[in-house]
Amino acid sequence: MTNKVPITLTRGDGIGPEIMDACLHILTEAGAQIEPEEIVLGERVYLAGTLTGITQEALDSVFRTGVVYKAPLTTPQGSGFKSVNVTLRKTLGLFANVRPVVSYHPFVATKYPDVDIVIIRENEEDLYAGIEHRQTREVYQTLKLISRPGSERIIRYAFEFARRNGRKKVTCFTKDNIMKMTDGLFHKVFDEVSEEYPEIETDHKIIDIGAARAATQPETFDVIVMSNLYGDIVSDIVAELTGSVGLAGSANVGDKFALFEAIHGSAPDIAGRGIANPSGLLLGGIQMLLHIGQPEVATRVHNAWLRTIEDGIHTGDIFKTGTSKQRVNTKEFTDAVVARLGQEPQQLKSVSYESAERIRVEYRPRLIRAKQLVGVDLFLDWGGDYDKRDPNALGEALRKIDGDGLQLILITNRGQKVWPQTRTETFLTDHWRCRFESVGELPLTPQQIINLLSRAAEAGFDVIKTENLYMFDGERGFSLGQGQ
Ligand code: NAD
Repeated sequence: MTNKVPITLTRGDGIGPEIMDACLHILTEAGAQIEPEEIVLGERVYLAGTLTGITQEALDSVFRTGVVYKAPLTTPQGSGFKSVNVTLRKTLGLFANVRPVVSYHPFVATKYPDVDIVIIRENEEDLYAGIEHRQTREVYQTLKLISRPGSERIIRYAFEFARRNGRKKVTCFTKDNIMKMTDGLFHKVFDEVSEEYPEIETDHKIIDIGAARAATQPETFDVIVMSNLYGDIVSDIVAELTGSVGLAGSANVGDKFALFEAIHGSAPDIAGRGIANPSGLLLGGIQMLLHIGQPEVATRVHNAWLRTIEDGIHTGDIFKTGTSKQRVNTKEFTDAVVARLGQEPQQLKSVSYESAERIRVEYRPRLIRAKQLVGVDLFLDWGGDYDKRDPNALGEALRKIDGDGLQLILITNRGQKVWPQTRTETFLTDHWRCRFESVGELPLTPQQIINLLSRAAEAGFDVIKTENLYMFDGERGFSLGQGQ
């Protein structure tokens, strides 16, 4: 008899309480040794005035137990409310999101009978850094932050996951033909880390064709690793192929903490009717049992669930006349799983989990010896009426603030070169990136940049932001302008 493992549990919003009750009942009946500590997150907390959706008391419970079992939450519409899901992932350092997606053909109707994919998504950075600004009247900006440690940890996690779970292939999706620096880094790190796993086949696809293939030939994929936004989108596409978003669970894992949930949301359209499918949350719960070292219970629950699906006992979201045998509500489905504890599926592949050490990944820092300041991009809010925006006039005015070792060499508008003048039909917004590079001694000093900013301010320019241009060990740390 194992000691009970404390876990933090939240029943969530919408269908959350209904499916959490169902899952807890199944897990307990199967012999899970867990001691839930309940916290409230989400809608009720937002409405009580905590804009993060999570109180310090709730966080303290998570810090104590290290494990969260979470039903879906509703993020209220409107500005000011931060997604509690994103807050939790970042606060707890849950860098890896692991979503197994499987089709249960012929028992659950799907056009794709052979899906067995694990999507591993980076969970903390990318466009989800949430750093957004309105910079001019016309232009808004979100920062896409991709770090070497963030990329290396998620990619290493994906390879380690593949190795431990007998997976044959890891595919990486990026858009590095366009985002050569951020996505280029992710791809480069993928290539580097893959060399440490020679037994695993690797592949890289540009995200557009990758997503298209995942949607049309999902059987050709095994493990897919992606940065945050691509992973968010592609994992929902793939989950939907198997019949319902209600059929997938996910683990969010970090070095010290882990959070387990369904991939779907709080389904307000069916909340309170007792008809929701608890399967996604249950499969998340199975991942939790593996994480806390209860593989026998995880095996019992998973096999009983597979048998229930195989017996055609289906909730409304996956019920299909002809394929399904009995349309059931949440409680009936739960009772059917409990009644099958100890049984195995007869046609679907049964599972047999063993205890395994948790995956721990390290970041191996690479030393950069020389970081050299070579220039600066000034971003300007410039030009009132659209038809009076003349890049030549801007170039001429800006050349007057050249000096002190810095010279204007390029102006772009939304990334497209518009000065020195080339003929272009580019639509001109009020957002200009003006690149000054060193024509003197290197490296530049920060003071030279401050002096340039002073000259720009004196000349009446509205500088909304600057980005320094660096060389790292002789390698350019900035992209060229489109058309430069
Ligand atoms: P959703 O996943 O809640 O629902 C999409 C559709 O799938 C709905 O038709 C719903 O009825 C159905 N569905 C989802 N889960 C089901 C289940 N278990 N059984 C049967 N049918 C199910 O997505 P949404 O409607 O876009 O979002 C609703 C709310 O959930 C939003 O506030 C959103 O922010 C939140 N959300 C939370 C999470 C999370 O907590 N991890 C994830 C996604 C969305």
